[in-house]
Amino acid sequence: MDLMEKITSLAKRRGFIFQGSEIYGGYQGFWDYGPLGVELKNNIKKEWWKSMVYEREDVVGMDAAIIMNPIVWEKSGHLKAFTDPLVECKVCHKRFKADDETAVKGHGKEHAGKAEWTIPKNFNTLTEVFLGVTEPKDKAYLRGEITQGVFVNFKNVVDSTRVKIPFGIAQIGKAFRNEITPGNFTFRDREFDQMELEYFVRPDEEKSKETFNFWKDVRKKWYVNLGINPDKLRFRDHEPEKKAHYARYATDLEYEAPFGWSEFEGIHHRGDFDLKNHNLKYHDDLTNEEFTPWVIETSGGVDRALLFFLIDSYTEDSSTGSEPRVFLKLNPRLAPYKAAVFPLLKNKPELVDKAREIYFNLKKRFNAAWDDRGNIGKRYFAQDEIGTPWCVTVDFQSLDDQSVTVRDRDTAKQERVAIDKLGEYFQNRLLI
Ligand code: ATP
Repeated sequence: MDLMEKITSLAKRRGFIFQGSEIYGGYQGFWDYGPLGVELKNNIKKEWWKSMVYEREDVVGMDAAIIMNPIVWEKSGHLKAFTDPLVECKVCHKRFKADDETAVKGHGKEHAGKAEWTIPKNFNTLTEVFLGVTEPKDKAYLRGEITQGVFVNFKNVVDSTRVKIPFGIAQIGKAFRNEITPGNFTFRDREFDQMELEYFVRPDEEKSKETFNFWKDVRKKWYVNLGINPDKLRFRDHEPEKKAHYARYATDLEYEAPFGWSEFEGIHHRGDFDLKNHNLKYHDDLTNEEFTPWVIETSGGVDRALLFFLIDSYTEDSSTGSEPRVFLKLNPRLAPYKAAVFPLLKNKPELVDKAREIYFNLKKRFNAAWDDRGNIGKRYFAQDEIGTPWCVTVDFQSLDDQSVTVRDRDTAKQERVAIDKLGEYFQNRLLI
């Protein structure tokens, strides 16, 4: 099994990610996050919000509607320019995104290299929806990027808060694209979550370049601090012909996935493109100037980040026993469960009662798991595979001295910790 097959199988088996509408054969480009997937996803979003909003004083958050007045998409240029180059295989008429090299090359191989392609034509990836009660219904769009919801609220945010330029507006939410070739598990979806910052600055070539570089640096560090191997990260500047219609310049943060170097966050200098299109300006009360701010954007995909956190944390340790020990070396702040609690034996009520008490106390602080099946080794194995950083075992000694065994996922080492110090023990390690 290659790494992607292992990840896909683990994700399904342990309840991280299921194929959307699976019982009806699935639906291409849509995925459902299971009980563990939703935790991991929420933790990624929480960490992002914490670092981009709570830890700064120049950024506020918002949450705009997914469906907006269609005029927004006309003004933003998306109706004309939100396109991907589409090519069709002349042999079997399957359609592909021309710049998706893996898919195009892979398809070539299916025809023993003989695939012949049509000339690329522009395909608009906005998803249409129809609303209203009279026929024909009104056509609107599911947002293709979450960004526009921020721009159209620029004045509302400035008027209702005390933000002064330079400042940012952060948002996390769903975006939809009628992708030509969804694939590589959750990498290219038709429905996905974005986490974005729009940072507004004065129009100034040099200073805005500094701001662009500042955010590039911040965003890379964020992934590294949460455990992504820095050797697997690189920036790739957009060539002029690949640049989005709104960008003055842009760079992609890429991860070396098993299917090749792949973008999971873009840092874009959008200039005054959007605010100008929406006819929005900023008034500086101190200098009495009025101008159209420039925008530096950091636009990350939650689903792609989650996939890369899974891939990057997947570890097989063959040094112990015949079967390799599989564990997800997830940063504890991202792990779906922070701790799992076990009674040594499930048929000893005194052990079970004590363990349940500890379990419910821990659950008041964070998400904890309970397991009393099989033997301790099997329980460790099951928790390792889903990335639970600590396992707490209540044994007979616990009843005498009010201490438990805490076993660490990464080192497999165990230590005794007093029950009344457990909360503090985890708090110090999680820094939450
Ligand atoms: P790509 O070149 O891979 O199509 P993009 O350059 O169109 O991506 P952006 O428009 O810059 O992507 O979107 C910002 C981020 O949103 C991307 O870095 C990615 O993480 C996420 N994203 C974009 N499209 C998808 C998709 N179809 N599925 C999952 N995430 C996506």
